[in-house]
Amino acid sequence: MDEVQRLIDAEYARQQTGIELIASENYQSPAVLKAQASVFANKYAEGYPGRRYYGGNRYTDELEHLAIDRAKALFHCDHANVQALSGANANLCFYTAVMKPGDTILGMDLTHGGHLTHGAPVTFFSHVFNFQRYQTLPTGEIDFAQVRQLARDLRPQVILAWFSAYPRELEYAKFAEIAQESWSILYADISHIGGFIAAGLLKNPFDEGFHAAMTTTHKSLRGPRGALLLSQGKVSNPLKKPEDTLENLPTRIDRAVFPWFQGGPHMHTIAGIAIALEEATTPAFRQYAQQALLNAQILASDLQAYGYQLVTGGTDNHMVILDFTWTGLDGASAEELLESIGISTSKSTIPNDPNPPFRPSGLRIGTPAMTTRGVKESWMHHIATFIHQALSSGGDETILTRLQAEVTEFCTLYPLP
Ligand SMILES: *Cc1c(COP(=O)(O)O)cnc(C)c1O
Repeated sequence: MDEVQRLIDAEYARQQTGIELIASENYQSPAVLKAQASVFANKYAEGYPGRRYYGGNRYTDELEHLAIDRAKALFHCDHANVQALSGANANLCFYTAVMKPGDTILGMDLTHGGHLTHGAPVTFFSHVFNFQRYQTLPTGEIDFAQVRQLARDLRPQVILAWFSAYPRELEYAKFAEIAQESWSILYADISHIGGFIAAGLLKNPFDEGFHAAMTTTHKSLRGPRGALLLSQGKVSNPLKKPEDTLENLPTRIDRAVFPWFQGGPHMHTIAGIAIALEEATTPAFRQYAQQALLNAQILASDLQAYGYQLVTGGTDNHMVILDFTWTGLDGASAEELLESIGISTSKSTIPNDPNPPFRPSGLRIGTPAMTTRGVKESWMHHIATFIHQALSSGGDETILTRLQAEVTEFCTLYPLP
């Protein structure tokens, strides 16, 4: 057996025997996986449909049109670019599409839930653009008085909303009101919640006045690893100077993705994206998304009943963030304890975290993956109990070994799709 095949089999077994609660992970459907192994992987298609740099693009043109049309319909916007290779570089494409080096972008403080690509100092682009920060209130909710003041003072080119660790619905309309005063472009990074917006269960930023958005396709959307850059066609002069008008946001975004940042699109991935976008229109997907939200509610209330503190005191979406401040635990050791019994989670910073980022005070737990495997209410209670028993075990080997056996057995009930 080839060495790589051995690793694929081992990874399959790891996924099958573990409980996956990393909020950004999910399982792709067999149809989506199959599309990525198709002959579209062989094809060069630099450019856009009807404007390619190579011949032989009859079917790639049709395929990309299909993905674009499905994305636009699903997210209620005028334009979709489906070529960005993943979420991180989709964000960079957007920044350069609408900003010049040195321009200001107002986003959330990173330790309050922002993503690395929202200007973390370890990224190149934090040195290119002027990232400024708003924060959350002690309750964990966004401080809109501060957003308004900063927008007035800084006149940012872009106001960035959405994050990697934020368990609440977002008040897009408040951002929209603020951006009207500061002439800022409104950009929502809905990477985590794209699937719930597609299912109509969480608010859509385009219905609330946002100009552009990005979602990864591999998180709650259950597609291949990739991203959608979505935008409205007519942005009415959100910039300060008349010579800078952004009357054509879609063209700017397309040019930023290709040729500014990327070469040939991954057409096999786009095939998978097109399938995932179709799947997301079905009643079955809506039911799935509803169940994932319900499962998160159950997890939140069970953990609270066990005495855990949650950031914002609960959740409106698929993620729950535990706050271990004052408990003697921290996110890193909690992650390790759970890993030792076969449960994957991710440590997370919490607002005004007293601990350093590599040993933060929070733990992020999400339901999209296990919901895909069919977990419903009653078994969600079991998962909450596993978590509590591991976290309260004090590292006791006997308890952890018993729990690990229970987790493995639990997982045989829930095969991968
Ligand atoms: C996951 C995520 C990204 C980056 O996506 P990759 O595909 O990992 O590059 C960007 N922004 C947010 C808010 C995310 O959650």
